[in-house]
Amino acid sequence: MIEEISYPVINEELCKGCMRCIVGCPQNAIVLSQDMNDAGYQFAVYSGNGCTGCKDCYFTCPEPLALEVHQIKNIANDDVAKMIKAKVANKGGN
Ligand code: SF4
Ligand code: SF4
Repeated sequence: MIEEISYPVINEELCKGCMRCIVGCPQNAIVLSQDMNDAGYQFAVYSGNGCTGCKDCYFTCPEPLALEVHQIKNIANDDVAKMIKAKVANKGGN
Protein backbone atom coordinates (compact mmCIF):
# COMPACT_ATOMS: atom_id res chain seq x y z
CA MET A 1 0.00 0.00 0.00
CA ILE A 2 1.30 3.44 -0.89
CA GLU A 3 1.07 5.94 1.90
CA GLU A 4 2.35 9.36 2.80
CA ILE A 5 3.41 10.29 6.31
CA SER A 6 4.16 13.88 7.34
CA TYR A 7 5.31 15.24 10.66
CA PRO A 8 7.13 18.29 12.03
CA VAL A 9 10.57 17.82 13.54
CA ILE A 10 11.40 20.49 16.09
CA ASN A 11 14.89 21.11 17.42
CA GLU A 12 14.08 21.86 21.03
CA GLU A 13 17.36 23.66 21.69
CA LEU A 14 16.82 26.10 18.79
CA CYS A 15 13.15 26.74 19.54
CA LYS A 16 12.40 29.98 21.40
CA GLY A 17 8.85 29.00 22.32
CA CYS A 18 7.25 31.89 20.41
CA MET A 19 4.24 29.68 19.66
CA ARG A 20 3.84 30.88 16.07
CA CYS A 21 3.82 27.31 14.81
CA ILE A 22 1.29 26.33 17.46
CA VAL A 23 -1.08 29.14 16.54
CA GLY A 24 -0.44 28.66 12.82
CA CYS A 25 -1.04 24.92 12.58
CA PRO A 26 -4.51 24.37 11.11
CA GLN A 27 -4.61 20.88 12.63
CA ASN A 28 -3.63 21.97 16.16
CA ALA A 29 -0.94 19.35 15.89
CA ILE A 30 1.82 21.23 17.75
CA VAL A 31 1.80 21.93 21.47
CA LEU A 32 4.09 23.65 23.96
CA SER A 33 6.18 21.36 26.11
CA GLN A 34 6.03 21.63 29.88
CA ASP A 35 9.81 21.21 29.87
CA MET A 36 12.36 23.92 29.19
CA ASN A 37 15.40 23.79 26.92
CA ASP A 38 18.91 24.78 27.99
CA ALA A 39 18.19 28.43 27.16
CA GLY A 40 15.16 28.44 29.45
CA TYR A 41 12.43 28.43 26.82
CA GLN A 42 9.46 26.09 26.78
CA PHE A 43 9.73 24.52 23.36
CA ALA A 44 7.21 23.34 20.79
CA VAL A 45 6.61 19.62 20.26
CA TYR A 46 4.54 17.61 17.83
CA SER A 47 1.48 16.11 19.48
CA GLY A 48 2.11 12.90 17.58
CA ASN A 49 -0.79 12.97 15.15
CA GLY A 50 -2.84 15.17 12.86
CA CYS A 51 -0.08 16.58 10.66
CA THR A 52 -1.10 16.88 7.01
CA GLY A 53 2.22 18.22 5.77
CA CYS A 54 0.89 21.68 4.86
CA LYS A 55 4.19 23.30 6.05
CA ASP A 56 2.48 26.36 7.58
CA CYS A 57 4.52 25.78 10.73
CA TYR A 58 7.76 25.75 8.77
CA PHE A 59 7.01 29.02 7.00
CA THR A 60 5.90 30.81 10.16
CA CYS A 61 8.87 29.80 12.34
CA PRO A 62 11.32 32.71 12.70
CA GLU A 63 14.18 30.58 14.01
CA PRO A 64 16.42 29.10 11.32
CA LEU A 65 16.64 25.31 11.60
CA ALA A 66 14.29 25.10 14.60
CA LEU A 67 11.52 23.38 12.67
CA GLU A 68 11.40 21.12 9.63
CA VAL A 69 8.52 19.20 8.11
CA HIS A 70 9.46 15.68 7.10
CA GLN A 71 7.47 13.82 4.50
CA ILE A 72 7.86 10.17 3.66
CA LYS A 73 6.20 9.05 0.47
CA ASN A 74 5.60 5.86 -1.42
CA ILE A 75 5.92 3.40 1.41
CA ALA A 76 5.17 0.05 -0.16
CA ASN A 77 5.42 -2.01 3.01
CA ASP A 78 2.60 -1.69 5.56
CA ASP A 79 4.81 -2.86 8.41
CA VAL A 80 7.36 -0.13 7.72
CA ALA A 81 4.60 2.50 7.56
CA LYS A 82 3.20 1.33 10.91
CA MET A 83 6.65 1.38 12.48
CA ILE A 84 7.30 4.96 11.33
CA LYS A 85 3.88 6.11 12.54
CA ALA A 86 4.43 4.53 15.94
CA LYS A 87 7.85 6.13 16.25
CA VAL A 88 6.49 9.57 15.34
CA ALA A 89 3.56 9.21 17.76
CA ASN A 90 5.82 8.09 20.62
CA LYS A 91 8.53 10.65 20.20
CA GLY A 92 6.64 13.68 18.98
CA GLY A 93 8.38 13.66 15.65
CA ASN A 94 11.91 13.92 17.00
S1 SF4 B 1 2.92 20.77 8.44
FE1 SF4 B 1 0.92 21.80 8.71
S2 SF4 B 1 -0.38 20.26 9.73
FE2 SF4 B 1 1.77 19.58 9.96
S3 SF4 B 1 2.38 20.39 11.97
FE3 SF4 B 1 3.01 21.89 10.40
S4 SF4 B 1 1.29 23.37 10.30
FE4 SF4 B 1 0.54 21.53 11.35
S1 SF4 C 1 7.61 28.92 15.55
FE1 SF4 C 1 9.70 28.03 15.75
S2 SF4 C 1 10.64 29.14 17.50
FE2 SF4 C 1 8.42 29.52 17.57
S3 SF4 C 1 7.62 27.91 18.96
FE3 SF4 C 1 7.47 27.08 16.87
S4 SF4 C 1 9.41 25.94 16.53
FE4 SF4 C 1 9.69 27.27 18.31
